[in-house]
Amino acid sequence: MKTKVLIIGGGIAGLTLSCLLGEMKIPNIVVEPKDLTKPQNIPENSRTAALMGPSVNILKAAQIWEELESQTAPLKTMRIIDDSAPNRDPVQIDFHAHEIGKDSFGHNIPNHLLQRMLIEKTSSCPHITFLSPAGLLGLEEKAGSIEATLDNGETVSAAICVGADGRNSKTRTLANIEVSETDYGQSAITCLIGHSKPHHNVSTEHHRPGGPFTMVPMLDRNGAHYSSIVWVEKTPDAEKFMRLDKSGFEQALQQRTRNALGKITLARSPESWPLKALIAKEIIAPRIALIAEAAHVMSPIGAQGLNLSLRDVAALSETLVESLRLGEDMGSPPVLARYAKRRRADMATRFHGVDRYNKIVSNNIEFLRGIRRAGLTSLDSIPALKHMAMKHGLSPSLDEGRLT
Ligand SMILES: Cc1cc2nc3c(=O)[nH]c(=O)nc-3n(C[C@H](O)[C@H](O)[C@H](O)COP(=O)(O)OP(=O)(O)OC[C@H]3O[C@@H](n4cnc5c(N)ncnc54)[C@H](O)[C@@H]3O)c2cc1C
Repeated sequence: MKTKVLIIGGGIAGLTLSCLLGEMKIPNIVVEPKDLTKPQNIPENSRTAALMGPSVNILKAAQIWEELESQTAPLKTMRIIDDSAPNRDPVQIDFHAHEIGKDSFGHNIPNHLLQRMLIEKTSSCPHITFLSPAGLLGLEEKAGSIEATLDNGETVSAAICVGADGRNSKTRTLANIEVSETDYGQSAITCLIGHSKPHHNVSTEHHRPGGPFTMVPMLDRNGAHYSSIVWVEKTPDAEKFMRLDKSGFEQALQQRTRNALGKITLARSPESWPLKALIAKEIIAPRIALIAEAAHVMSPIGAQGLNLSLRDVAALSETLVESLRLGEDMGSPPVLARYAKRRRADMATRFHGVDRYNKIVSNNIEFLRGIRRAGLTSLDSIPALKHMAMKHGLSPSLDEGRLT
C-alpha cells in the first residue's frame, strides 16, 4: 500500500492527526494493533482528560467538537489546595476563568468517548485508511520514501512515518532514538464517583505528600452529580488502596475529598496506572517524526500530557500542510527540522516544568512544604502574579501549533 503519511498508533493523538490531515485531503494510513474497527470496541473506563482551550480548538479543527461538547463538563474554576501540613489548615487558591476573560479554562472529556468519536470520523473520511488490528514490525528508509512492515503481512510505503504509538513506541526504538526516563515510584488511581453535592464546575487538586489528589467535574446525569478522580500515591500505598473493598475505598475517598462533594459513591471501579517521566532525546529521524507519548510521558499533575500532545499534532499537521503547499517532500530533512524547531521549546518547558512541580508537590520535606504554602498564599494576594500564573500555566509556551 502507498500513502503520504503513515501514522503508527490509533490512540487519541494519532487519530486526531489523521482527522486533521484528512480534513486537508492529505491521504493517510493509521496502523493500530488493537481491533478498534468499531467505536464500541473501545471499552468505557475511568480515564478522562481535562483539555484546555487550545486543545478544544484542535478538536474543532478536526471537526469532532460539535458532537462531543454536549458530553463534556466545562472547567470554570481550578482550585489548588495544599493539604500537606499535618495539624495546620490547608492553604487554598482559586483560579477563575472569568478573571482572564474566559467562560472556562477547558473541558473534562471521557477518554473513551473522544477516541470513539475520532474512530467514527476516520471511518467516514475518504482520505483515511484505518488498518486495525495491525502493528508495526519494521521500518526501512528507501529512496524518497519509508516502508513499514506490519504484523498482518502488509507493507506500507509513505513519504513520512509518524510515531504516535505511545510510551513504549516501537517507531522510536526502530529509529534508534534514545530516551531519558525517571521512575517516580508513584501510581495514579483513577475512578469515577457520584456525589451528593454539586461540583459547580470546580476542578480541585489537593497537594499531599504521596502525590496530588484531583477531583475533576463531569457532566450531571439525570440530576445526579459526577466527577472523575486522579489519585496519585507512592506505588505501595496505591496498591493498598486498590485492595480495599468497595465500602473501604469509598470511605478513603470520603476522607480524601474532605467531604467537599458530600456523600461519595463509586460510579466506576478504580484502576491503577504506573507513572513515569520520559522524554525522547530527538523527535525526528530520517523520514520519521514522533508525537505525543512516543515523545514525552509525564505525571498527570496539572493535566498537561494530552494537551501537550495535541499541540504536537497541530504543529505537525500544519508543517505537513505547509510543505505540500510549497511543493516540498513531506519527509525531507528541512520539513522534519521545521517540525522539531516548532515543538522543542514547548515540549522541554512543559516536560521539565511538570517534572519539577511533581517533585516539589509530592514530598514531605518541611522546607519545601513551607515554600509551597507561602507560594500559594502570596499568589492569592497579588492579583498581577496570579493573572500571570493563570495565563502561563494554562497556555502553550512559545511556538505552539497555530491551529490553537
Ligand atoms: C491517570 C492519568 C490521567 C491523565 N489525565 C490527563 C488530563 O487530564 N489531561 C491531559 O492532557 N492528559 C492527561 N493524561 C495524559 C494522557 O492520558 C496521555 O497523554 C494520552 O492518553 C496518551 O495518548 P497517546 O495517543 O500519546 O498514547 P496512547 O493512548 O498510549 O496510544 C498509543 C497507541 O499506539 C498503539 N501502538 C502501540 N504499539 C504499536 C505498534 N507496534 N504498532 C502500531 N500501534 C501501536 C497502542 O495500541 C495505542 O492505541 C493523563 C494520564 C494519566 C496516566
